[in-house]
Amino acid sequence: MRKPFIAGNWKMYKTPVEAAAFVRELKDSLKDVSGVDVAVCPPFPALWPVKEALEGSDIALGAQNMHFEKEGAFTGEVSPAMLQDLGVKYVILGHSERRACFGETDELINQKIKAAFTWGLNPIFCVGETLEERERGITKAVVEIQVLKGLAEVTAEQAENLTIAYEPVWAIGTGKTATPEDAQEVCRFIRELLVNLFGKEIAEKVRIQYGGSVKPENIKELIVQPDIDGALVGGASLKVDSFTAIVKGS
Ligand code: 13P
Repeated sequence: MRKPFIAGNWKMYKTPVEAAAFVRELKDSLKDVSGVDVAVCPPFPALWPVKEALEGSDIALGAQNMHFEKEGAFTGEVSPAMLQDLGVKYVILGHSERRACFGETDELINQKIKAAFTWGLNPIFCVGETLEERERGITKAVVEIQVLKGLAEVTAEQAENLTIAYEPVWAIGTGKTATPEDAQEVCRFIRELLVNLFGKEIAEKVRIQYGGSVKPENIKELIVQPDIDGALVGGASLKVDSFTAIVKGS
């Protein structure tokens, strides 16, 4: 049985001061919650204050991106070594906004995923199709390529610490959620790919989140699906009330 995992992807929201105040409130709001793993993924400048504010709570810290090298002349980038040193546990990689706005390719994402494992960080690896791809009926083909290329050379041992987030691009920030059945179908397909890559035992351990307009009103129907093990939450993770309700509903 996989433990549900709810992660908040704050995207480019909240200053360090706002982030720390938010997390102090969230900590209190979630203090009686058990049986679910929770992470918040603030922007880089807020990682340190959020880490300090999280002390004494079970809420884990995640980042939203990283470079794959340990260090070097890469102006503006943040390395896995820096995230590890900060006590970051998870790192979101391959988010569709990184793919679409910053030109991240499957090959680059694969380098980042391998680097995350090397540095003991647990990737939340995002995949998902665009509206056009869904309408053309190629959702599974698109997701298959993303999964296979993204996870090239990843070992079964490493995959135990992998989370995959299935985020249909057309559902992100639009208020449109995939139906629970459609989301389940793709998550099931992803698990079958993981069986082929890593064997059944490991594939059954990997948590697959759904992401895309998750809110308190729809978390329950999503989480009951057999292959949906949690959610990667954008907009609704920015408010203590709605994020708490999603965590409690999972
Ligand atoms: P929304 O929940 O705002 O649709 O964002 C989803 C997302 O991109 C999480 O990574």
